[in-house]
Amino acid sequence: MKKSEIRKHYFQDKYVIISPKRGQRPHITKVCTEDDSTKKDCFMCPGGKVKLIYELPDLKGGWLIRVIKNIYPALTLDNKYAYGKQEIIIESPYHNKEIHELPIEHIKKILDVYSERYESLKKVDKIRYVLVFKNEGGKAGESIDHAHSQVIALPMLPPLIREEILAIDDYTLKNKTCPYCDIIKDEKKSPRVAWEDKNIFALCPFASEYPYSVWFIPKRHVSSLFDMNQDEKHSLAEAMKHIIGKVESIGLSYNYFFHNSFDDCGHHMVLKLDPRPNVWAGVELGTGIIINSIPPEDAAKFYKGKSKSKKVAIGR
Ligand SMILES: [Zn+2]
Ligand SMILES: [Zn+2]
Repeated sequence: MKKSEIRKHYFQDKYVIISPKRGQRPHITKVCTEDDSTKKDCFMCPGGKVKLIYELPDLKGGWLIRVIKNIYPALTLDNKYAYGKQEIIIESPYHNKEIHELPIEHIKKILDVYSERYESLKKVDKIRYVLVFKNEGGKAGESIDHAHSQVIALPMLPPLIREEILAIDDYTLKNKTCPYCDIIKDEKKSPRVAWEDKNIFALCPFASEYPYSVWFIPKRHVSSLFDMNQDEKHSLAEAMKHIIGKVESIGLSYNYFFHNSFDDCGHHMVLKLDPRPNVWAGVELGTGIIINSIPPEDAAKFYKGKSKSKKVAIGR
């Protein structure tokens, strides 16, 4: 792909400009200087003072994964002016291990914890939406470098989610099918498939908003992690390990988040991963139209190991 292309989202009224030439500008590589497995002043390391919600024990009397209260929450259940709840999931006791460096079985256990916290928080009175997400790297908003994910429980349906729910319902009304099930069928033979097995379809979406974005779509129409069986969760853990490992190999910060179905509307669950090399500027903030310098077809090749990474534009 040499010329730029304006592309529209599969089923939403959203546009991106795929502009490969912008990728000639340099990109920054994260530098890791930490090599201790435990860091003394890190509260997420074993021995750190935390407000524990619960922990998964390991076989040696320690813990494998911890769920703790967010130390500086913006939302709390006792504040009627900013009602809600925030939690942190410490993914492992090791200070220097990122999620993709953990064994698949451990990542699968993290998915079990995500599922348990999601199911538990959505039952809290007056909670309308629960998001499980991860910020990895400074550009993705991460402030502590011990591997962790977060959960936020909100008293309202966020506008982005409402927009997507309406678009899904609209699509289903017209086509009598689920848009994500259709995307799997339509993209099966496309050059945008990043990873696939019998359970998970990992796709670089046609109108990808970020360089190297991936959607992890379960092949079976499931509404949340809770509905996935052990074999499907194993596949998702394996897909995450592979894709995140590739993202980390080129030093990109990233966010991922689970779009689970809420209010039992039965929508298809998707895990969306967005690497964050770019700072959105005038065009994006002023129009909502995103410029992406890496065509998703090139991103998929990179994930499949058929190409080297291209440099990604920083800023505008
Ligand atoms: Zn630590
Ligand atoms: Zn579906």
